[in-house]
Amino acid sequence: MYFPYSRIEFMQKIEHIGIAVNSLEKSIPLFEQLLGTLCYKTESVTSENVNTAFFKTGESKIELIEDSTEGSIIQKFIEKKGEGIHHIAFSTDNIEGEIKRLKSLGFEFIQEIPKKGADNKLICFLKPKSTNGVLVELCQEIV
Ligand code: ZN
Repeated sequence: MYFPYSRIEFMQKIEHIGIAVNSLEKSIPLFEQLLGTLCYKTESVTSENVNTAFFKTGESKIELIEDSTEGSIIQKFIEKKGEGIHHIAFSTDNIEGEIKRLKSLGFEFIQEIPKKGADNKLICFLKPKSTNGVLVELCQEIV
């Protein structure tokens, strides 16, 4: 069988899509118009040197990300690729279990210990080279 897992609820949904932008000030009104909904939260994530802004789109969210410090990961991303989709985040109720499961399958992580990210989440990222070039974030709600 191609998909050998009996449990398919590991990745519960696409929690959000992260979009790298030059300026939240410019992009928040743009995405408010695009999505027809207001930004419901902005948050600075000091561990990543970024500022974020969130929009609800049904079950998922859009996260706009700008750098807050020279030389942040977002600035480097935009220099290389321009503004655009930066990562896809999947939610899980067991981030530690998911890290173990994915490592055992050969996936590589940027950091293997989850850290506190924006929006009250524990997060970790996989290395894009192990996921067809897509930066994948796992996130678990902190309760
Ligand atoms: Zn994210």
